Amino acid sequence: MNERIVILGGGESGVGAALLAQQKGYEVFLSDGASLAPERKRVLKTQRIDFEEGGHSEELIMNATLIVKSPGIPDSAPLIQQLVAKDIPVISEIEFAYRFIDKSKVIAITGTNGKTTTSLLTYHLLKTAGYKVALGGNVGRSLAGLVAEGEFHYYVVEVSSFQLDGIANFRPDVAVLLNITPDHLDRYDYNFNKYVTSKFRIIENLTNEHAFIYCADSEPVSEEISRRKIEATMFAMTTSNNDKLSAYLKDEHLIFNYQFKKDERHYQIPLSEISLIGKHNMVNSMAAVLSALCMEVPIEKVLKGLKNFKNAPHRLEFVKEIDGVAYINDSKATNVDSVYYALDGVKGNIIWIAGGIDKGNDYAQLDELVHDKVKALICMGKDNQALTGYFGSKIDQITEVDSAKKAVEKAQEWAEEGDVVLLSPACASFDLFNNYEDRGDKFKRAISKLSKKLKLKEA
Ligand code: ADP
Repeated sequence: MNERIVILGGGESGVGAALLAQQKGYEVFLSDGASLAPERKRVLKTQRIDFEEGGHSEELIMNATLIVKSPGIPDSAPLIQQLVAKDIPVISEIEFAYRFIDKSKVIAITGTNGKTTTSLLTYHLLKTAGYKVALGGNVGRSLAGLVAEGEFHYYVVEVSSFQLDGIANFRPDVAVLLNITPDHLDRYDYNFNKYVTSKFRIIENLTNEHAFIYCADSEPVSEEISRRKIEATMFAMTTSNNDKLSAYLKDEHLIFNYQFKKDERHYQIPLSEISLIGKHNMVNSMAAVLSALCMEVPIEKVLKGLKNFKNAPHRLEFVKEIDGVAYINDSKATNVDSVYYALDGVKGNIIWIAGGIDKGNDYAQLDELVHDKVKALICMGKDNQALTGYFGSKIDQITEVDSAKKAVEKAQEWAEEGDVVLLSPACASFDLFNNYEDRGDKFKRAISKLSKKLKLKEA
């Protein structure tokens, strides 16, 4: 019987899976409950792949021999339940793509936070070493789309828990688990353990020939590891000084004790040689370095890549130095946890720009850092009561503004040489901006304008 693959969802992963399935000679049908983006439709039409949009026709779906489900569709959706009741296998796009990866190596990266940064850096280290490497999954292209191209020897894949929920044989050569904190619980019956179990599926098919790199500082991760018997070769990371682990932080150095398949290496890398800043990014850097070492990237290339890496925008992004004052854009920091890492990572006295839509933040965890490092707070939001109420008695200089331009002008007025102006809002952006990217872009534009204005004055 000819295999009929039905793909549910026509986003990046669905269309990637459709292309791969078509290429491998399957009968393919793609069905999306909503409307498809015009460029996706164009691709499907050009490739003569049958599809429907705006609803699911049961008679065209229930005759499938295999379903590839978009990560956006929950298992609880009635259609999925019907398919499962009929014993039709339902898998995720990375599982499907993986079936066609033969000799190439896969590095899969998951965690609640830090996935994109770590995936980008790992990709960059392999690329710097001259490897034929592709980056995909949650960031950028779908794994299936990349596999369909058939050109790569290495795949760095950012993996979400929803993708992991639909795996069966997916077995990365290197699995990275950065951390787990409560998130997406609506998809896990509001049960944190179910979310943890989902993240740990990344190692379910690993043997001691495969590497499992994880951060021991994340309690849910460590606890789950202590409960399990794990076959993979383990690499533990920490930001404290612990020479029993594979990677740790000591005296402004990342230290590596690497041991895998009879290969043993020890390295000390000064933080000054790493372009990323902030403690959380040290975990991300350790994970990327260990992954690269597992893929036998020479240390000189690792060092070169660490030094010249540029992260995706809006994540502790250095923008400009004006009159000895550094401006940093961390617009992606939409919660207090992220701000903690930013304040901790930045060196010097900080003029902190925060605010927006407060999601019931508890700012207490910032007390010590704010006391030690923050000299002024600029609240940038429509309603700044939560911030002014909490920090009013703790920070001497506080003001409120309603645009990025005014925030930058005020910051420049208050800043002295050696200070850092840091946008790290702890809040969502939708009161004054379209999204966090828009907020970061407007901040950067205001800095650029300020710099030009000051230069003109000098001239
Ligand atoms: P993701 O792709 O998982 O959303 P990103 O790399 O885009 O992660 O980073 C998102 C935010 O998460 C960053 O702005 C930073 O504040 C925070 N973050 C990054 N790495 C870590 C980490 N290892 N641990 C905790 N928080 C992190």
